[in-house]
Amino acid sequence: MSRFVLVGGGVATAATATGLREEGFDGGIVLVAAEPHLPYERPPLSKEYLAGTVDRPSFRANPEAWYADHDVELVLGTRVDELVPAEHRVRLSDGRSLGYDALVLGTGVRARTLDGFSGERVHALRTLADSERLRGRLTAGRHLVILGGGFIGCEVAAVAAGRGVRVTVFEPEPLPLGRVLGAEFGRAVVDIHAEQGVEFRTGQVVTAMTETSSGLALTTRDGGVVECDELLVGVGSVPNAELAAAAGLEVDRGILTDEFGRTSAPDVHAIGDVAVRHHPEHGGPVRVEHHDTAVKHGRHTARVLLGHAEPFTEQHFFWSSQYDHMIQSLGRIDGEGETVIRGSVEDRSFTRFSLVDGRIAGMVALDRPRDLLATRKVMAVPHRVTADQLADDDFPLKSLLPKAGARRSEARR
Ligand SMILES: Cc1cc2nc3c(=O)[nH]c(=O)nc-3n(C[C@H](O)[C@H](O)[C@H](O)COP(=O)(O)OP(=O)(O)OC[C@H]3O[C@@H](n4cnc5c(N)ncnc54)[C@H](O)[C@@H]3O)c2cc1C
Repeated sequence: MSRFVLVGGGVATAATATGLREEGFDGGIVLVAAEPHLPYERPPLSKEYLAGTVDRPSFRANPEAWYADHDVELVLGTRVDELVPAEHRVRLSDGRSLGYDALVLGTGVRARTLDGFSGERVHALRTLADSERLRGRLTAGRHLVILGGGFIGCEVAAVAAGRGVRVTVFEPEPLPLGRVLGAEFGRAVVDIHAEQGVEFRTGQVVTAMTETSSGLALTTRDGGVVECDELLVGVGSVPNAELAAAAGLEVDRGILTDEFGRTSAPDVHAIGDVAVRHHPEHGGPVRVEHHDTAVKHGRHTARVLLGHAEPFTEQHFFWSSQYDHMIQSLGRIDGEGETVIRGSVEDRSFTRFSLVDGRIAGMVALDRPRDLLATRKVMAVPHRVTADQLADDDFPLKSLLPKAGARRSEARR
């Protein structure tokens, strides 16, 4: 009987385990995870869980009983320390050795650290433990400084401000999220936060930190000093690809795979945040850190393991919520093609499309869930659209879908 070993305790490996059982696989599944928890979703860590409005079981990937009911062996609080592809074997941190018929690496990423920034009052945010520790420090009247105006920095700023914490965000770029989402979004995000009392110091960098008797003193590049009680370092992530690299797998800012999620070693697959997967829409390798993609990679790999080899072609999707605002993105938003804005930037209700060769290649929307729903359908079918049509809020995006009659005759063909 086959044994599949899944490495990592995130949603990606949990989705592989679920997919394998749903597809009828009745061999052995062992899931090895470094954290001591059941596989869980991370988005609430910077939102509802940090705010204290949801509890842990609500964001487990599967309920506790599911693993026993589906005969999935959990090895929690244990790392895979070594991978020997030639022997189809891994070595665990508890000294055990496990053989596999197929191995799935879903080791995720870790928070990037900054030299000289550590200590009791310094935080990162990647794990449940990080979120719990930070939550305990978000007390009204305290001052939190956040290094990095990325998604995690912005989401934590929103939660902290909601708890009465004074928040200052340092962002080296001229606008937060601007490089990823464009200047319109960057400006909207600054304004939304400013209304809640969050101060953005854009174009500014903190270069050093010292501990004082009552908190921290941060030195900025221009020589200023800012005092605070707590510091969150939110400056990006590092893929947990060392295990794969040491085993001789091809690694380049993550574990390289083909469009089926197969790595350069036989019977070793990589999924989720750590995987640099060839994607036909992008015409090359791409790594994203999106919850939805991690789940879909996991499900897709389950099918590949069972011999249903289709390439992974799903559009990448992510969201971010800050206060009562929602940012949602689909497809390519990497600056490729022509940029078209639909809706009102002034009213903070708009969508930024990327148009490539008369086709929507991607979109990101601020508080426009209907644009997302329609675009998702449109992007799934062949279509042609002009920049003027996209920019016209009265032009129904759904009119780009094939008519019902055309769909039926297409289906008959
Ligand atoms: C605070 C936060 C908020 C987020 N919010 C959003 C959001 O709003 N929308 C969105 O789309 N995405 C969001 N994301 C991103 C999303 O959570 C990730 O894309 C997703 O968690 C990736 O899942 P994964 O299973 O690939 O990896 P992970 O969830 O990182 O899980 C990997 C696991 O593998 C373990 N591991 C690593 N090495 C080993 C080893 N050698 N042996 C055993 N175990 C190992 C790690 O400890 C970890 O538990 C957020 C992420 C964070 C941190």
